[in-house]
Amino acid sequence: MHIFESFSTPVRYAPRVLVCGGGVAGIAAAIAAAREGADVLLVERGFLLGGLATAGLVTIFLPLCDGCGKQVSFGLAEELLRLSVALSCDGKRDADPWLHSQNPQDRLPPAPRFEVNFNPQLFALQAEELLLRLGVRILYGTSAVAVSVRDRKIQAVMMEGKSGRFAVAPVCVIDATGDADLAALAGAPVVRFGQGNVLAAWYYTAGKNGYCLRPLGVADIPDEQKASAPPVPYLSSQRFSGLDTEEISAFVSLSHHTVLSDYTEKKKADPTFGEPATLPTIPQLRMTRRIAGAYTLHDSEMHCAFPDSIGMVSDWRKRGPIYEVPFRTLYSPALRNLLVAGRCTSVTDAMWDIMRVIPCCAVTGQAAGCAAAISDDIHTLSSEQLQSTLRLQHVRIHESEL
Ligand SMILES: Cc1cc2nc3c(=O)[nH]c(=O)nc-3n(C[C@H](O)[C@H](O)[C@H](O)COP(=O)(O)OP(=O)(O)OC[C@H]3O[C@@H](n4cnc5c(N)ncnc54)[C@H](O)[C@@H]3O)c2cc1C
Repeated sequence: MHIFESFSTPVRYAPRVLVCGGGVAGIAAAIAAAREGADVLLVERGFLLGGLATAGLVTIFLPLCDGCGKQVSFGLAEELLRLSVALSCDGKRDADPWLHSQNPQDRLPPAPRFEVNFNPQLFALQAEELLLRLGVRILYGTSAVAVSVRDRKIQAVMMEGKSGRFAVAPVCVIDATGDADLAALAGAPVVRFGQGNVLAAWYYTAGKNGYCLRPLGVADIPDEQKASAPPVPYLSSQRFSGLDTEEISAFVSLSHHTVLSDYTEKKKADPTFGEPATLPTIPQLRMTRRIAGAYTLHDSEMHCAFPDSIGMVSDWRKRGPIYEVPFRTLYSPALRNLLVAGRCTSVTDAMWDIMRVIPCCAVTGQAAGCAAAISDDIHTLSSEQLQSTLRLQHVRIHESEL
């Protein structure tokens, strides 16, 4: 059965840049756009900024360096990493040679990589303060639910929140939903993560050892890389696409059940084991849906120079690789004013496992924010103009600049 509804939707906002999703990618996009002087509206369906990194309790800011002594991600990736540990010394994963020493010799292997653990609450609160100081308007409890497209441009994005349904008519839209929701709603080609997500149940305990992360559920390896890898013990054999409401609910309940069982078991073995202190408030899904962009980056393209590079990322899993990220991975040929940022940019499954992590989301977020602030038609935006804007925001573009 279907109910047919008909209604007109009031346009309540007409910002220069609309950012949908307030995870790390959305935060970086909003900061970058606001610093270019754009009027920015950020909508977030939850009530905390940071997405998986904060509400999802994924609190390891993976490396900004290549593991061989070179920093490769700059700009907001570095600024947000430093912000994440600015007020808390919550275990910095020995990043002192990177955070404090100016001596490059201190950063050579076997020195630890440029990564930190951060406190999720403090990071979310500080990111919010920073955005508000820059004049970004934030709407919490607001979901993007539909789009209106004309001449390959998004005219309006329909939102739903406590005050009902309303529309936003921006010049440029940034899809930082993590799931390419806007691209899919607009009918742009998207790709699902075929093999599905494994269960995760990361939570925090508080006890005699302080406030501690229990990261239950390791990352899956993309099928194409499985031959050479040893089998990994997963929490459950079930797989989750992350794109179906009932299935996401089952994922969340199973994750909760896993936390409870883990706590009960640990407490029985050790009566001083800490009590659960923080549970995730968004589902811990790694890869769901991405755009099929104007270019799709492959994990074999390490050390390749791209004329439209918007910055660089490393491989969190191994020392050595450096990837330049082409601007074309951030948009679809189908839409002229939609950019994507974060874990839904255009990459292969194998590259997805590299690009989905926090520093990479900051890199693509910053580029999307700058592009949205300076162009009405991203298909015709010159790479040189975008790159010079990014350089003024302290980004290094090419590996030859390291
Ligand atoms: C179990 C697990 C472990 C991980 N471990 C690490 C790790 O150790 N280190 C690391 O660096 N990375 C790790 N990652 C990956 C990393 O945390 C995420 O990929 C990254 O934080 C994604 O950022 P994002 O901004 O692209 O998306 P998200 O963090 O998913 O943010 C998207 C935001 O958009 C909002 N949103 C979604 N849809 C809508 C909508 N329609 N309207 C409005 N708002 C919407 C969401 O509420 C959310 O706040 C892990 C991920 C998982 C799941």
